[in-house]
Amino acid sequence: MINAMKRQEAVQAISETQPKGGKVNYTDSHVREIYAEHVFNESVQRQRLPKDVFKKLQKTIKAGDELDPTISDSVALAMRDWAIEHGATHFTHWFQPMTGSTAEKHDSFVTPTGDGDILAQFSGKDLVRGEPDASSFPSGGLRATFEARGYTAWDPSSPAFILDNPNGATLVIPTMFVSWTGEALDKKTPLLRSMDALSNQAIRLLRLFGNTSAQRVFTTIGCEQEYFMIDRHFYLNRPDLVNCGRTLFGAKPPKGQELEDNYFGAIPERILSFMAEVEYELLRLGVPIKTRHNEVAPGQYELAPTFETANLATDHQLLTMEIMRKVAGRHGFTCLLHEKPFAGVNGSGKHNNWSMSTNEGENLLEPGDTPHANAQFLVFCAAVCRAVHKYAGLLRLTVATAGNDHRLGANEAPPAIISIFLGEQLRDVFTQLETGTMKSSKKADSIKIGVSMLPKLPRDAGDRNRTSPFAFTGNKFEFRAVGSNQNPSGPNTVLNTIVAESLDYICTRLESAVKGKTDLNAAVQTLLPKLIAEFKPVLFDGDNYSAEWHAEAEKRGLPNYTNSVSVIPLATSKESVELFRKYGVYSKVELHSREEILLENYTKTVNIEAETASMMAHTMILPAALKYQTIVAEAIYSAQSAGVETPEQTELLKEVVEAVGAFRKAALVLDKVLDDAPHGSAPKAAKYQCETVIPAMTELRRWGDILETLVDDELWPLPTYREMLFIR
Ligand code: ADP
Ligand code: MG
Repeated sequence: MINAMKRQEAVQAISETQPKGGKVNYTDSHVREIYAEHVFNESVQRQRLPKDVFKKLQKTIKAGDELDPTISDSVALAMRDWAIEHGATHFTHWFQPMTGSTAEKHDSFVTPTGDGDILAQFSGKDLVRGEPDASSFPSGGLRATFEARGYTAWDPSSPAFILDNPNGATLVIPTMFVSWTGEALDKKTPLLRSMDALSNQAIRLLRLFGNTSAQRVFTTIGCEQEYFMIDRHFYLNRPDLVNCGRTLFGAKPPKGQELEDNYFGAIPERILSFMAEVEYELLRLGVPIKTRHNEVAPGQYELAPTFETANLATDHQLLTMEIMRKVAGRHGFTCLLHEKPFAGVNGSGKHNNWSMSTNEGENLLEPGDTPHANAQFLVFCAAVCRAVHKYAGLLRLTVATAGNDHRLGANEAPPAIISIFLGEQLRDVFTQLETGTMKSSKKADSIKIGVSMLPKLPRDAGDRNRTSPFAFTGNKFEFRAVGSNQNPSGPNTVLNTIVAESLDYICTRLESAVKGKTDLNAAVQTLLPKLIAEFKPVLFDGDNYSAEWHAEAEKRGLPNYTNSVSVIPLATSKESVELFRKYGVYSKVELHSREEILLENYTKTVNIEAETASMMAHTMILPAALKYQTIVAEAIYSAQSAGVETPEQTELLKEVVEAVGAFRKAALVLDKVLDDAPHGSAPKAAKYQCETVIPAMTELRRWGDILETLVDDELWPLPTYREMLFIR
């Protein structure tokens, strides 16, 4: 009875829970005062730094110039005073180890002077470099080959900020994390390198188009974050959610998302209070959240920020996830960021909106108002398409996680086949360009580069193809395969690098044509059809879920990596090593380390899930099912003792006995499979989890879910889908 009581108590407690307010108050202080009040941003820097120091720092931030080491003491002093005025007692170098989350170690500003007094100390050295004990972070073998220690290095392009907690505040300094030999031990460093690579090539192309003023091209990203909110009372009674972030058992509820009544529906009040507090906290940290709404699945929601440069947007994204988790707890919820917390309903993605913009604010994927601007737009756009076609496998690799494997290709998530949706108009332009010049007689109205205007490309959500993994949405691309739980730096690092390679390829050809006295427009007109013919197989505007597309994609030679384990080894393919070396983004050893970590991570994740499933099977589900079996058997026994025939009940008992037997058998199979898991080689271990452990878990779940629909609800130990998804 204990178990059923836990569930009843949870529902009772939730029914008495009120939306939590009190924190957010824009009446007493205006949004403008609150915005970025906890950020050591440009305006604070201007106020607090000596003029020449401010100028030098801004040059580093805006033009990517190397940091002048002589200014660090001055910046540190200003930063320290500002932080202490805001209640900070500690500072931390905040970094992104290859675990995918963030790491921090706090140091106090306070230093005893030895004569009984104390001093607030924070020097340029403290700001610029830190030495966390890095030995417990995954390095994928990097530290075995190289110097054991790593250090953190200040990233001035992402401003320091203050993170509050109920008992104080900490100055947080975004940093890179590298080994003493310069190998990146984190996810930020390669992203910054890739931004440099892309900027260099994009500037080259802009110069060809006569732009002499732009100094740098930034990649811009805006990540739409999908998530589930589950009441904490339910969460705490689900060991699978606590341990793995997703349910390992759970029968399909009588009502799921089929009525399509959740998307954009009225936001429940408790959730809205949570959202408002998240936005408030993020506002203070200078993270501009723009939209919030209900998502397709019950209990699922989304928020999206205003886009920023990739580095800043990534830091802000990580901060957003952290704040969401924290604030959810304050409101009696747990925020689930897993890609597929519930089988049979939508998973959660992090749609990665991506574009390129000059330091002067020109969006390079915005179709222009003049034929000249259109020509430039078409070349940038073609560069992206070529990159995605040529490196579809690498792009797929960036979204390869055990969690995302459950999402891709199921319930409205894009499939694992990477293709591009351009929309009818742009697709038509490319078709005209390709056929128009190659078979010059075919179409009289073909686009003439530098002369023709483009048709108006729609930028409204209604026209989009929600099934496409990589869609052009009017002035940016949206990479929809990214998982909700991911650090977006991986996908963007690769995207930036492959587009840099494409731009390089294009620039080399255009530069040589122009040198040979060919007019630029003519050179573009000649080059584009060739490029289009090459990348055309990756263009697909239809339904990405359909079986026909899978067959068609195979015919076109597009890769279809259905699981992570099959795609992860691409990290160290010859093509990958050469690409990332050429643009200085990852060295060969760095790629090896990433591959190792991805595989290890996969193995560990699935293994933890399997161990959890086994534990739940033996100690929670099986006992409940056996109790029910006894109840049915006793009922039959007592009826028969009273001289009554019980044919239906006997049928039921048989059914229960069969399901209980099959369930226990499946649990034993899983246990055996886990015992037999190979050790040593990372690829072998991951493959085993994928091909042997996951099927054993799936079979166990199948019987578990059958039992859930058979066993007395009062005995069932786990909060059900019906409860978790609908009661709040
Ligand atoms: P959707 O209709 O796809 O749900 P949203 O409004 O939820 O659109 O999210 C779109 C995201 O794209 C926002 O984060 C927005 O800031 C971002 N975005 C808009 N323009 C750009 C751009 N030029 N570069 C990168 N991201 C952009
Ligand atoms: Mg959206």
